[in-house]
Amino acid sequence: MADEALSTDSIDVRLVVDLGERHLAVGIIDGEGNVGVRDRVVTPTKDRLSALTRLIHRVLAATPADQRPVLSAATGPGPVDEDLGGFSPIGPNEWNGLRIRDAISEIVGCPTILETTGRAYALAASGGNSVIGVHLGDDVDGGVVVGGRLLSGERGSVGAFGHIGVEVDGRPCICGKSGCLETYASVRGIEESTGRGLVSTPASLITQSGMMVARACASLAAMMDINQIRIGGVVVEAFREAFIDSIHHELVERSRLTHLQNLDVAVAQFHVLAGASAVALAAAPMSTAAI
Ligand SMILES: [Zn+2]
Repeated sequence: MADEALSTDSIDVRLVVDLGERHLAVGIIDGEGNVGVRDRVVTPTKDRLSALTRLIHRVLAATPADQRPVLSAATGPGPVDEDLGGFSPIGPNEWNGLRIRDAISEIVGCPTILETTGRAYALAASGGNSVIGVHLGDDVDGGVVVGGRLLSGERGSVGAFGHIGVEVDGRPCICGKSGCLETYASVRGIEESTGRGLVSTPASLITQSGMMVARACASLAAMMDINQIRIGGVVVEAFREAFIDSIHHELVERSRLTHLQNLDVAVAQFHVLAGASAVALAAAPMSTAAI
């Protein structure tokens, strides 16, 4: 009887995690996506799993006793390696090889879903509609949402827009091609090309970056027949109006197809846990028996 009383009184919540290159963030959300307890730390260079473990314990300790996480969702640099249960970005990266899913599930005591930052961003931006989300962070990532459903593909990587070719004979890319969007519109690509921090990017390269994003957006909209594109991430925050003006200017030249006449490209920025929250809320409701 005591167990039944506890079950009736407890409130199902979800634990959300974002693994960024600058911060690790953890929070608790309710069924509406409202964030309650939250905390974050600067992402350490080494031993990231230990830092994440300490942060989750801290959030759980601050969570009211009647709130019980029934699901966890974590976002990080794509792609997700489902076999590993972690994130496996191309090139050297401290997240490679870490079993994030197992670590979170063990601490919290519930199943954990992993999703890339960009795909989760697209889901957050969709509002249940059809949208292409383009996230310009340390890498370029994104997602395609049709009727509120995030398209996955065979390996869950639909939306890896970073390697769309946007410039003939452009900058060499880590993927083996040249002229990829990644090299013009990700923090990593921009800083490698300038040798400076993102906020010190020259105006001419901000304009160029916007042009390349517009080219990718026009191609994506033409291919997918989705007219709503939302763009976010730290690059948009840093480059602001000049970047957005450049995108819209280039789009006029690149979107003459009949089905692109209503193309709607706009900036949409959310809090750092919004993507993981959208993923957690989109998952099927968990029953106590399934945990
Ligand atoms: Zn590439």
